[in-house]
Amino acid sequence: MTQRVLIVEDERDLATVLAYNLRADGLEVATAETGAAAYREVQAKVPDLIILDLMLPDVSGLDICRTLKANPQTRDVPIIIASARSEEVDRIVGLELGADDYVVKPYSVRELVLRVRIILRRTEPATPAADLVRFGVLSIDRAAHRTFVNDQEVALTQLEFRLLTTLLERKNRTQSRETLLTDVWQLNSSIETRTVDTHVKRLREKLGPASSYIRTVRGVGYRFASAPDEPQIDG
Ligand code: CA
Repeated sequence: MTQRVLIVEDERDLATVLAYNLRADGLEVATAETGAAAYREVQAKVPDLIILDLMLPDVSGLDICRTLKANPQTRDVPIIIASARSEEVDRIVGLELGADDYVVKPYSVRELVLRVRIILRRTEPATPAADLVRFGVLSIDRAAHRTFVNDQEVALTQLEFRLLTTLLERKNRTQSRETLLTDVWQLNSSIETRTVDTHVKRLREKLGPASSYIRTVRGVGYRFASAPDEPQIDG
């Protein structure tokens, strides 16, 4: 599920740049230019994280922080305070009120996006066990669409991820190129079966030490082999 960030910021240009970068990072973003708008947004949908400017036209960001931290429904929503250097005292008060982190304006948007990521990862609900599949060095988090080899994340495209999970779900059973085109690409023979080979090759390169799980079945297609070290007699 996409995580939602609320940006409370009355400098419109700054809010726009920040929203753009957070969305590019795969997050859902809402913005509010005033305290009143911020409360409306929170009421409509409690966000997963709030970036809070302290100097707003109607209320102080500190009041917002205090109010949200006093409400059981919003108490656990992480808050990152954004403030000017001169507002150091307010920043400290904010942290005492329960804000999770702060950035000093002017801040690096890249750095802020990174901090958002770190906090969201920390607060992410635990993945249901059924969605985490492990095979030796390979682990796949189906719910989060993430793949790890030796606990290092491997960045797969949507298509590569679908190819890998499709093979995995049907492990030890050979899948023809035509079947894979239908089920992974959701296309029939309008694209060439060689496309499958190209993507399998790229997927194997990314999987590195886990690439041997994906066996070539000569003349037919591919299959996911649950024992990576078995001799490859069919490919
Ligand atoms: Ca401001």
